[in-house]
Amino acid sequence: MLPVIALVGRPNVGKSTLFNRLTRTRDALVADFPGLTRDRKYGQARSDDYEFIVVDTGGIDGSETGIEVEMAEQSLLAIEEADVVLFLVDARAGMTVADQAIADHLRKQDKTILLVANKTDGIDADSHCAEFYQLSLGEVFHIAASHGRGVTSLIEIALQPV
Ligand code: GDP
Ligand code: MG
Repeated sequence: MLPVIALVGRPNVGKSTLFNRLTRTRDALVADFPGLTRDRKYGQARSDDYEFIVVDTGGIDGSETGIEVEMAEQSLLAIEEADVVLFLVDARAGMTVADQAIADHLRKQDKTILLVANKTDGIDADSHCAEFYQLSLGEVFHIAASHGRGVTSLIEIALQPV
């Protein structure tokens, strides 16, 4: 059974961009992956020597109403199913109340959670990312999903044996 990495975070932080990058060489979506339901988007991915399942989610911002409630529930289920959760935040937008709400939830999980600041292309990543240490999830990893920067080493860290 391949390890499962879930991508969570509020809408528009770049989850689907990262999903597409990780799965781009394999267009097969694995919706029928055993034990997993169809409500999240699953893909088989490879990065260097690592093979894994990556799960994209619609996004969660802690103040959901209507259809967003279901979307948020999908994120919670994806977190439960995952071996590793990549919690994406937007380095350009900075920390938001939604990020804090998601972090509060994730800190209670007994999972490997990596806090990932995306969209660090063309900005000073260190100064933009410093505030995310307030989320108390440890190290802040920098990536630019649309360019691929930092992605390979992030996956290596996410999947290395603990
Ligand atoms: P999602 O809602 O979390 O799935 O976010 P998307 O993957 O749909 O991305 C939202 C927007 O952010 C899109 O316009 C992407 O092109 C943009 N985006 C994603 N990753 C990056 C990045 O690394 N750098 C920049 N500059 N923009 C990005
Ligand atoms: Mg998306």
